[in-house]
Amino acid sequence: MSEALPEFDLARPATVEEAVAARAGAGDARYLAGGTDLVVNMRRGIVAADRLIDLTGIAELDRLDLDGGGTVIGAGVKLAAVAENAEIGARYPAVAEAAAVIAGPQHRKMGTVGGNLCLDTRCVYYNQSEWWRRANDYCLKYRGNVCHVAPGGDRCWAPFSGDLAPALLIHGAEIEIAGADDRRRMALSDLYTDDGADHLTLGDGELVVAVHLPADNWRSAYDKIRVRDSIDFPLAGVAVGLKERATGGPELRIALTGTDSRPVLVDGIAEALADGFDDSTFPAIEKRLKKQVQPMSTTTLNAPYRRTAAAVVAKRLIARLVG
Ligand code: SF4
Repeated sequence: MSEALPEFDLARPATVEEAVAARAGAGDARYLAGGTDLVVNMRRGIVAADRLIDLTGIAELDRLDLDGGGTVIGAGVKLAAVAENAEIGARYPAVAEAAAVIAGPQHRKMGTVGGNLCLDTRCVYYNQSEWWRRANDYCLKYRGNVCHVAPGGDRCWAPFSGDLAPALLIHGAEIEIAGADDRRRMALSDLYTDDGADHLTLGDGELVVAVHLPADNWRSAYDKIRVRDSIDFPLAGVAVGLKERATGGPELRIALTGTDSRPVLVDGIAEALADGFDDSTFPAIEKRLKKQVQPMSTTTLNAPYRRTAAAVVAKRLIARLVG
């Protein structure tokens, strides 16, 4: 049963600075880009917003700069544009592959890079209608006192499900953020915390403006498992990057989404690859991967299956890249 969209004011700034100013001191204000997740969440009563700041008129956010040494992708660039851009596909294959499998075609036409990076965490006890959540006394993430997934604990385990983040992480992305007083850049990994109820480190009113990618020669790939291949969020998504080095053997990176409240860049891969690829390499990588992700019963697929599936997807991607 659909629910009515609550009333809200709409601001339509023309610049990033105007957008940030429109949000300052505006109470329950939210930035609106594609709206593919936000509007649904407002209808369901998960997000309360009395002012929306429409970012679609800000030309700077649509910036796509592939001419310099690195690459700059504006936060407002549509997911379909990333998926279809041949240059991005050549330089950062995992990024284009991840964008190409986000939700369905209509979502990718509307959804943006910034929206996918700032996607709210998801859970079967949270992404429900108001009456369903009320009947279950809500939950710790919003309006309730208990986490139904881990009732004895005091944190939310809802996983982050953005597809772009792991792909961007293995390519060493940084993000540019605008606040009331200045702009700053930081590693993409620093955008996230491991708390499903408060998983972004953005300050009050801060806006993600762009993603900066270094020029590199990583080969990469992305794949995921989901219930319906045509539309669903990842229940485990994996990005793998491989770089050949002149000496010391290949370098490998693995990052995951859909398992934890933040995207996970797996540690210890270099040690597993110390002697190059041989029969012991994948068991060593699988052990590290499974130890570092912590899926919980937040989705329709159980946690052990998602952990195992993540390792299988990683193995397939590594095999594809190694050839
Ligand atoms: Fe709510 Fe727990 Fe699910 Fe978080 S993990 S959304 S607190 S039920």
